[in-house]
Amino acid sequence: STLEQTLLSAIRTIPDYPKPGVLFRDITTMLGDARAFRRAVDELVHPWAGTKIDKIAGIEARGFILGGAVAHQMSAGFVPIRKKGKLPHDTVRVAYSLEYGIDEMEMHKDAIAPGERVILIDDLIATGGTAEAAVKLLKQMGAVIEAACFVIDLPDLGGRAKIEALGVPVHTLISFD
Ligand code: IMP
Repeated sequence: STLEQTLLSAIRTIPDYPKPGVLFRDITTMLGDARAFRRAVDELVHPWAGTKIDKIAGIEARGFILGGAVAHQMSAGFVPIRKKGKLPHDTVRVAYSLEYGIDEMEMHKDAIAPGERVILIDDLIATGGTAEAAVKLLKQMGAVIEAACFVIDLPDLGGRAKIEALGVPVHTLISFD
């Protein structure tokens, strides 16, 4: 079957989670399906065959799972981008807005050297606010951001345009209207 069929049938949709009116796209079923998980990782890696990537930056928490697998397959390092207060060493931080209020995310100051080529990974892009904050952190570190990659795009929410406006190409595998 096609990649799209494989992923669409492996991703579960939960209505009214985490609150009424939201359709939550749940990738845990995809991660639990050996074939679908491998397909997704292969497709995330594919555009960078022959390109030297130094680091994969994964956004907490599902970006850790996908990013770890992608980093291994690309022979790249892995760098976690986390909610504030979780990383033990010196960090750089950026504030970003949530639907209600603001939060901060951070990464270790010494996680990326200036000029390193980095790919950002998360499971899903919606408004792009989370990825935008991650891009700001990576730029502060002097990273060369090759792309931001997601399994799922929710195109109606405009995240792709927000990230591309920062000069970062966006690569997604499937979308839900
Ligand atoms: P954004 O900041 O609006 O682009 O939201 C993206 C962030 O929220 C990512 O870290 C996603 O993991 C998470 N997210 C938002 N909606 C969903 C969903 O339907 N399924 C899984 N994660 C979601």
